[in-house]
Amino acid sequence: MAGGPASDIGPDPRPFVLLASRHGKERATARPFRQGLGLELVVADQIDTDDFGTFTGERPRPADAATTCRLKAEAALDATGASLGLASEGSFGPHPAIPFLPLAIEWMTFVDRRRDLVISERLEGAPTNFSHSVIAAGADPGSWLERIGFPAHGVIVRPHRSDPHPSDPFPIIRGLQCPQALEQAIRGAAAHSVDGLALLETDMRAHRNPTRMASIRRLAFRLVRRIRTPCPSCGSPGWGLVGREPGLPCDWCGLPTALLRAEIHGCAHCDHRAEVPRRDGLLRADPQHCAPCNP
Ligand SMILES: [Zn+2]
Ligand SMILES: [Zn+2]
Repeated sequence: MAGGPASDIGPDPRPFVLLASRHGKERATARPFRQGLGLELVVADQIDTDDFGTFTGERPRPADAATTCRLKAEAALDATGASLGLASEGSFGPHPAIPFLPLAIEWMTFVDRRRDLVISERLEGAPTNFSHSVIAAGADPGSWLERIGFPAHGVIVRPHRSDPHPSDPFPIIRGLQCPQALEQAIRGAAAHSVDGLALLETDMRAHRNPTRMASIRRLAFRLVRRIRTPCPSCGSPGWGLVGREPGLPCDWCGLPTALLRAEIHGCAHCDHRAEVPRRDGLLRADPQHCAPCNP
């Protein structure tokens, strides 16, 4: 392992980091934390992460995804008295700029109670199969299923429009990966829907969604890299991206455009910040991005 201040995280006899997850995320996070930081991953399965909200919406999330992520890691530490915690959180929705395209954002947060450090990374625009479909019982969902990667990826089924006061409420059925069980669930849900239709959704839980699991793995490596990066001022672990500055000057008129001008890197412990040039080295914006030059 490389030297530097990050290398002495976890002086316990067998240093470990507690992962707050019931959804198999250790499969994606154990290797980066062991290889990059010498930390063994221990799953805190006594924490019901669904207490922090579910993708399917029966329990709304109490806070934004980044905060929820930190709260999950903190809850695992509160419950066990351990000092290093890890949690991840995803959010999925329509893309704000490109209609019909889904946008996935993944967060991962590492909490070190001894050093009073909270270090987070995120992955925006990761590949995702996030989607839904509304179908009648007996209709063929084949093309949608193919698009979302069924049966490797799980499906959730529920009535499209539930009776607000049902005599026998129909449960949300999650994690469907078998065609026969899926067909049965669609029939049941459609029969319990006031419009006779079933709502099919992609199951976004990591253990039912290999595309998401791959994103979590990528993010775990990114977070480990950040934990290993010391602050140039105080030496504390967790130096990395904290903000983006737009305003790359137009190549013709020099006025600031909406394009990224620089990244702001910061410390998880002290107030030190530094401006870092764009990774692609671009110093001037193509005039097509400039309102005065290309109205
Ligand atoms: Zn211009
Ligand atoms: Zn610092």
